Amino acid sequence: MSLNLPKKQIDFYMNWSYWEKTAFFQAADVVVIGAGIVGLHAALTFKKQQPQARVVVLERGLLPDGASTKNAGFACFGSVSELLMDLEENSEDSVFALVEKRWRGLQKLRQVLGDEALHFENLGGYELFMEEHFFEQCAHKIDFLNEALAQIIGKTVYRIADEQLKPFGFAGVNHLIFNAYEGQIHTGWMMKALLDQALQAGIEVRFGWEVEAIFPEEKNVILQLTSGLHWATRQVLVTTNGFARQLLPELLVQPGRGQVLVTAPVPNLPFAGTFHVDCGYTYFRNIDGRILLGGGRNLDFETEATTQAGLTDRIQNHLETLLRQVILPQKEIEIEHRWSGIMGFGPTQMPIVARLGDRIFCAVKMQGMGVAIGSLMGEEAANLLLEAQ
Ligand SMILES: Cc1cc2nc3c(=O)[nH]c(=O)nc-3n(C[C@H](O)[C@H](O)[C@H](O)COP(=O)(O)OP(=O)(O)OC[C@H]3O[C@@H](n4cnc5c(N)ncnc54)[C@H](O)[C@@H]3O)c2cc1C
Repeated sequence: MSLNLPKKQIDFYMNWSYWEKTAFFQAADVVVIGAGIVGLHAALTFKKQQPQARVVVLERGLLPDGASTKNAGFACFGSVSELLMDLEENSEDSVFALVEKRWRGLQKLRQVLGDEALHFENLGGYELFMEEHFFEQCAHKIDFLNEALAQIIGKTVYRIADEQLKPFGFAGVNHLIFNAYEGQIHTGWMMKALLDQALQAGIEVRFGWEVEAIFPEEKNVILQLTSGLHWATRQVLVTTNGFARQLLPELLVQPGRGQVLVTAPVPNLPFAGTFHVDCGYTYFRNIDGRILLGGGRNLDFETEATTQAGLTDRIQNHLETLLRQVILPQKEIEIEHRWSGIMGFGPTQMPIVARLGDRIFCAVKMQGMGVAIGSLMGEEAANLLLEAQ
């Protein structure tokens, strides 16, 4: 574990009282850094196994401020073109192992929080094809993918669904492939329910606390906070995903920003479900009678490899063009919300869930699929901490 920051003196002039130091900042058994899907699931799993343990989650934002409250809420495990693209660079075993983790992760998320709390709806997912040749390449592989995914899901997943082209009314789209087992959730309600569960379980979740550096010691780990405090814990789990290298520079995790917009309500919206364009790089869905549309990172990978929230003309124009020319052609649509979130990517497909030292662990790099895989990765990470005790 590399130590890249000098250990500062405690700032006594910051006015922390004796009472605050002894009641709020006494040593913890486990500190989880980051209150996203992964961090909260890890904390919950650990606390269930060890109800007496003092488990603290430190989150620097006023709400979780990475990807978990900023995403598109697709409960998905891969479109046909996305899986074929993955298969070009990875072995069949690793691609389908990841699909299985996504599928199991989604089942776990539903089991932990319940479909009602998630606002889960199984409306199915569609992939849009504009180019005939590309569609034929994908269509040709449907049977192969269905056979492989039947081992995981137990059902036939993909089929061509061109009969929906007319009712959906997209312009310039020649074919659709349907995924019968893709769903959607309300990301905000999901995270609120997860947070409520963590608090009910007796986990202390502290917002507005940023960890600046981690110092391993023989019997503890010392966390240096930007507030000037040092906090001791027996074990620490870093779940800061796209921000992972700020604390653990040795990890191969690169940030990737995702931009999103949501329209005003569209009267008689002609479609419902989740939709993928361009190998999943761009996506849209219905939400409360509106359209949520996001992605396009592949147009400008370099600019989007950042931990800074922000919107760019290039990507927002791409999304708006798709909206006005393809998704709802010839309709006046207003855009009411825009935001961005930060994901974590790396050279391999699998997330990094690992022990990095005697008392230091991480679960990061969710590869832009943390809604699907995050609950399972949180559980795996908590099990590593439990095994190490
Ligand atoms: C626009 C967008 C759309 C997406 N759509 C989907 C989708 O439809 N389906 C899907 O499966 N996935 C989707 N994802 C990906 C998914 O949201 C993420 O993979 C998942 O939320 C990652 O969860 P996490 O807990 O690992 O990280 P995060 O949610 O990023 O949590 C990390 C937390 O750590 C905090 N933090 C960082 N540094 C510190 C520090 N030093 N001290 C304290 N706290 C710190 C951050 O504020 C953050 O809250 C999308 C992501 C984005 C951005």
